[in-house]
Amino acid sequence: MTDIMALDRQYIAGTYARFPVELVAGKGSLLTDVNGRQYIDMGSGIAVNGFGAGDDQWIEAVTAQLGRIPHTSNLYYTEPGAKLAQLLCERTGMKKVFFGNSGAEANECAIKAARKYSAQKKGPDCFTIVTLQNSFHGRTLATLSATGQDHYHELYQPLVPGFAHIAPGDMDALAAIDAKTPVAGILIECVQGEGGVVPLEAGFVQALSDYAAAHDIPLMVDEVQTGNGRSGALYAYMTFGIHPDIVSTAKGLGGGLPIGACLLGEKVQDVFAPGDHGSTFGGNPAVCAGALSILSRIDDALLEGVRQRSQYIFDQLTGAEGVEAVTGLGLMIGIKTKKPAREVVNACIEKGVLCLTAKDRVRLLPALNIPMELLEQAVAALKEACR
Ligand SMILES: *Cc1c(COP(=O)(O)O)cnc(C)c1O
Repeated sequence: MTDIMALDRQYIAGTYARFPVELVAGKGSLLTDVNGRQYIDMGSGIAVNGFGAGDDQWIEAVTAQLGRIPHTSNLYYTEPGAKLAQLLCERTGMKKVFFGNSGAEANECAIKAARKYSAQKKGPDCFTIVTLQNSFHGRTLATLSATGQDHYHELYQPLVPGFAHIAPGDMDALAAIDAKTPVAGILIECVQGEGGVVPLEAGFVQALSDYAAAHDIPLMVDEVQTGNGRSGALYAYMTFGIHPDIVSTAKGLGGGLPIGACLLGEKVQDVFAPGDHGSTFGGNPAVCAGALSILSRIDDALLEGVRQRSQYIFDQLTGAEGVEAVTGLGLMIGIKTKKPAREVVNACIEKGVLCLTAKDRVRLLPALNIPMELLEQAVAALKEACR
């Protein structure tokens, strides 16, 4: 154990089961530990560093803004947030953006927007937000209540009321809830990330979208993990051919600094008035300048590269020894292994490759531009570790 590991264990709240690696530097998809050992990064800070660690253009954009005005309050206008919101809307067809600092906050905003829209339109009894079993939407009390996995709930009762969970695919359950207490919003991840990297069935996503449109229910898509090129499209919902009313995103949008964005479509674009919602740091100019650099480079060529890398991983791992299933979309991949996932990940660390887990799966979230050579090495090491 290094001195820093000991210090961390003494003074940092024990919420994380960290791997025994102390990182001191990183460039692109290569990270260096305190002993000078290099690792291939197959996690990108949990889908955050889309262009790898310390991407040059991102550093330049952030530092240039730090030299101009690093922070002000939301009582004044600044350029980076306005331009980032414009680009987000132009590339999605959404109408307005609220900036926060995390995925959970983006989802909080989505939930508040849906609740306010529905309460205004259908009355105060219309507050129930329907989400899916096995979903993950964040750690705040409301987003925890939205999350459809019991083990996250156990220690934090009572949860925020007004959330109901249905099984993916179960349209009858949705209709039954709607008949009892009118539904104020539907919140889904197109690929359940923390749930084990499980894509929803396209037919179900379409049915939800049709139901929401027919009943004037805001459809919210949580693109915190799937978004910003990760799925092989700019946002995963685009692959599913739907048009959500609200999109929340975070992780990869910031390129390594905290950001959350809640995109409001035509239906809900005017739901908020001054004072309804806010954030001190949300839309921070330095963070938004970095995000603008990231988003403007998620283009067709990059997305094609994501899909090619994805295909390579699927081809290599599907049917490999010790691999039971490979699921996911783009560079968001879950691997069901014969050995326990954590054991495989630890074996990968020994081989100089950093992977993640999601439930009982090994999870891969490499940088969107990971060099093929590094990807080949990492996949070869992972295959060995699975055997
Ligand atoms: C990570 C994640 C969140 C929470 O994001 P934070 O930035 O940790 O608050 C919410 N939804 C999904 C789908 C996520 O993957």
